[in-house]
Amino acid sequence: MKSAIHPTYFEEATISCACGAVYKTGSTKQAISVELCAACHPFYTGTQTIIDSARRVEKFQERLTKKSDEVKGKATKKIARAAKRIAAGPKVEVEETKSGRVSKKKK
Ligand SMILES: [Zn+2]
Repeated sequence: MKSAIHPTYFEEATISCACGAVYKTGSTKQAISVELCAACHPFYTGTQTIIDSARRVEKFQERLTKKSDEVKGKATKKIARAAKRIAAGPKVEVEETKSGRVSKKKK
């Protein structure tokens, strides 16, 4: 082995996971942090959990609720407009004349 070209090797390097699991290994880095490991990955645990380290699921849920609120707002506006229209009455007046029915626009 040539001297002074190899990186420092740590016999007891630690790998720490976001779930709290800690593993000991040999590495050129003293400490390694990971988001997933065999203790918490759904493939190994057999449970179906959503791993949301980048908050993507949460962001999607926020967007979805925002959108549904907008749709609800539009629907209520539409209903209010329809109620106003009904309250105002018909737009045209129907007059009965000798020759037949004549409809006039209301002012
Ligand atoms: Zn883990």
